[in-house]
Amino acid sequence: MKRIYLDHAATTPLLPEVREAMLPWLESGYGNPSSLHEDGRKAKDAIDQARETISDALGCLFAEVLFTSSGTEAANLAILGAALNSTDTKRKRILLGAAEHHCVLHTQPMLEKLGFQVQLIPVDSESKLDLEAAESMLADDVLLVSAMHANNETGVIQPVEDVARLCRKQGALFHCDAVQTFLNLNLKPIDADLLTLSAHKVNGPKGVGSIYIRAGIKLQPLALGGGQEREMRAGTENVAGIAGFGAAVAKHIADPAILKSKEAARNAFLTNLKNHTQTIQKPQTLTGHAHLRFPGIDAETMLIKLDRMGISASSGAACSSGSLEASHVMLACGYSEREAKEGLRFTFGWPNTVEEAIEAAQRVNLCVSEIRSTRN
Ligand code: PLP
Repeated sequence: MKRIYLDHAATTPLLPEVREAMLPWLESGYGNPSSLHEDGRKAKDAIDQARETISDALGCLFAEVLFTSSGTEAANLAILGAALNSTDTKRKRILLGAAEHHCVLHTQPMLEKLGFQVQLIPVDSESKLDLEAAESMLADDVLLVSAMHANNETGVIQPVEDVARLCRKQGALFHCDAVQTFLNLNLKPIDADLLTLSAHKVNGPKGVGSIYIRAGIKLQPLALGGGQEREMRAGTENVAGIAGFGAAVAKHIADPAILKSKEAARNAFLTNLKNHTQTIQKPQTLTGHAHLRFPGIDAETMLIKLDRMGISASSGAACSSGSLEASHVMLACGYSEREAKEGLRFTFGWPNTVEEAIEAAQRVNLCVSEIRSTRN
């Protein structure tokens, strides 16, 4: 039985071009990019080439893009770095979207230790940020607002242009977690002050992230040591990983069809699926996302059985002590604890085909009917 991987929001396979671009830096190109000799200079050039590709893709300045070890580290740097750097005694509130990724939400205890009051901006029943609430919560005592470009669990695209406008009006910094949308949606109109990305969501390697920091904005570095990355992020750079990130971006820009192909697969999957409830009806979602519930069947039971049937999917919720917790995103949408354990996420991407998606839907249908028949 051929396995079908439908968990591209968790991570994506490496493009062949990315592997090719990484290999030299894992083999002969082992120089330290901080070294002044030729081996070092070559490694530094590879990093700067990736920086140029990403800054061109974002439409920002070369020097506004820094590399980190992950999207998580980039978001931590954006939020905690801004908080640690602030000397403004008036701006002591920080607003985070209630359905953000944990790399944003889990900064709360540390922000509170630093003396900030953290408030969560509610989302509606389909995980879309409540703009009216955001507007009423934003005032001139807010240092920073963090809102994601699209939700990783539901795929719902967020009104980030409006959040940016509200932040500008109140002089607050705006951090946008664009990990799920980079290259999938046009980022240029967002106008974020801080924007964070991750290589492994766009067919690049794991363990590489990036942060856009608008020129003039200062952050307190979280990793201290050498002066790498404009003294904002110490530590010898992951040259191969960064070169791979650059290559992934370059390939997607040269060949946008790779990322577009997932929509047809996602649609074929949904068309052939039976007895499910689509959790998202109204808002626009990422084209590769399908977020569903099979009422009465918890996600854990489904995922274990689907895994045995050769399907890799996910619930989007965290797994702790061997069992799935209720999804914090679905709880924020107003689902009950039980319902929030039923959410399933199927995410499509390269190299999924329509045929594979139809086959996957048939296996999911069988999985559901087998679970239901054992309960009757
Ligand atoms: N933000 C979002 C929306 C994500 O989906 C993820 C990964 O799941 C991250 C941040 C974290 O990125 P990384 O895996 O590179 O730490």
